[in-house]
Amino acid sequence: MEPALAELKQRLAEITDLARVGSLLAWDLEVYMPPTGADARGTQLSTLTSLIHRQATDDRVGELLDELEPYAASLPYDADDACLVRVARRRFEKLRRIPTELAAEFTKAQADGYTAWVPAREENDFAAFRPALERLVDVKLRMVECFAPYDDAYDVLMDDFEEGLRSEDVTRIFETLQPELTALVDEYAGELDEVLRGPFPVDRQDALSREVATAFGVDWGSFRLDLAVHPFATSPSLTDIRLTTRYDEGDLNSLFTAMHETGHGLYEFGSSPSLDRTPLCGCSSSILHESQSRLWENVVGRSLPFWRWFYPRVQEAFPERLGAVPLERFHRAINQPMRSFIRVDADETSYGLHVILRYELERRLVAGTLAVADLPEAWNARFEELLGLEVPEDRLGVLQDSHWSTGYFGYFPTYLLGTVLSVQIWQCAVEAVPDVEEKMERGDLADLHAWLRESLYALGNKFPPEETIARVVGGPLEPGPYLAYLRDKLGALSAA
Ligand code: ZN
Repeated sequence: MEPALAELKQRLAEITDLARVGSLLAWDLEVYMPPTGADARGTQLSTLTSLIHRQATDDRVGELLDELEPYAASLPYDADDACLVRVARRRFEKLRRIPTELAAEFTKAQADGYTAWVPAREENDFAAFRPALERLVDVKLRMVECFAPYDDAYDVLMDDFEEGLRSEDVTRIFETLQPELTALVDEYAGELDEVLRGPFPVDRQDALSREVATAFGVDWGSFRLDLAVHPFATSPSLTDIRLTTRYDEGDLNSLFTAMHETGHGLYEFGSSPSLDRTPLCGCSSSILHESQSRLWENVVGRSLPFWRWFYPRVQEAFPERLGAVPLERFHRAINQPMRSFIRVDADETSYGLHVILRYELERRLVAGTLAVADLPEAWNARFEELLGLEVPEDRLGVLQDSHWSTGYFGYFPTYLLGTVLSVQIWQCAVEAVPDVEEKMERGDLADLHAWLRESLYALGNKFPPEETIARVVGGPLEPGPYLAYLRDKLGALSAA
C-alpha cells in the first residue's frame, strides 16, 4: 500500500473511532444516564466534537489527499480506495470552510435550543422558545455564508443531511405530491378504529417487537433494543447496533417503531466489512436511510402478506382485545388515512402533508420572508389549508418536533423523499425476489434482506447518494410509483 494511503487510513480510522465513541455517549445520554449527568455529558460531547474537528481539518490530511489523488484516479472508479479519497476530500473541504469558533457557537446554540424547547413544548409557550430559535436561525445562516457563492441557501442546509440535494428538485417533487396526497386524504380520511386502542400489556409488545426485528434479519448477538423517549437507532460499530423504542399500553405503535428502527439498524449493519473504520462505512444519506426504515415499517410492515403471517401471533398476545377481530379489519385499521396534528403519529398517506408544511416554512425562514416571531401563525394557517384542522395550541403545532431546537433545518424533506424512494426500491426488490410476498406470508424475509444488503447496504457511503439511488433503482427519485402504491392500496382497502 502507498505509505500516504496507510497514513490517511490511520487518521480516518481514529476520527471514525472518536465519532463512534460520541455515538455511544449520545446513546447512553438518552437511554441510561441519570438526569444530573446532563451538564457533564454535554461538555464531554463538545470536547469530543472539537477533537474530531481538529483532527479532521488538520493540514496533514489535505497534504495526504493531494498526494493520493493521482493514485486514486488510476484506480477503477468504484474501487474502495478511490471512493475513500473522493469522500475524504469532500468532507475535508467542507469542514475547513467553517471556522472552529462558529462551529463551537452552533454547538452551544443547539444545546441551549434543546434546553429551551423541552419546557416550552410542555408548557405550550412558544414565546419562551423564540429567542433560542432566533439565535439558531442566525447562527445557521452565518454558517451558510461560509459556503458562498451558492445557488440557494436552503441547498447548503440540506447538504448536511443529503449531499447534493437541490431545493428545485425537492419543490418539483413536492408540488407533484401535495395535490395528490390531499386528494387521497379527502377521499379516504376516517377515524381511528377502536380495535387499535389498548390495553396492550407492554411486556407482550416488547416480545412482539423483538420477534418482528428477528424476522426482518436482526442478529441479537450484534443488536440491542432499549427504551428511549424519542426512538432512534445508532451504531457504535459495525457489529454493535443499538435500536431504541417506546411502549404505550394504549396503542400498538411500538410495533411500527420497532420495524422502523430495525430498518435503520439493518442498513448500518450491512456495510461491507472492508469499509469498516473509514468514512465509507454506514450511510450518511438521510433519504437512503429513511427509505429503509420506511420500507420495513410501511411497505413490508403494513402489507397484507406480512400480516397474514404476523397477525395470529399478535392475536395470541392480546386475545382479549384482538381475538375476535378479523385480519382484514386490523389491516384496514393500520392503514387508515386520518387528519391529525402530530407528524410522528401520522398515517402513511397524510404523513407527506406534514413534511411539506415544514419544508415550505423552512424555505421562507431561510429566505428571510418569514420571521421566527410569525412562525406559529404561519404554521397554523398553512396546516389548516393542508390538513383541514384548526391547530388549538402550539404544542400540537409548531412546538411538536425537536429538529429546529437543535438547528436541524433542511432535514424534514428527507423523510418524505425517503418514503418516495422506499417504493421505488421495493419494486426492484420484487423483480429480484419474485416470490417475496409468498415468503412474507410465511414470515420468511431472508431473501428480501439479502437482496437489500447486497444491492444497497453493502455500498455504504462509497458513492454520492444520487448515484447510489441510480445504481439501485436505475434512475432518479420519482414520485409516481409512491403515488400509485398509495392509490392501489387505499382503493383495495375501501373495496374490500
Ligand atoms: Zn427514521
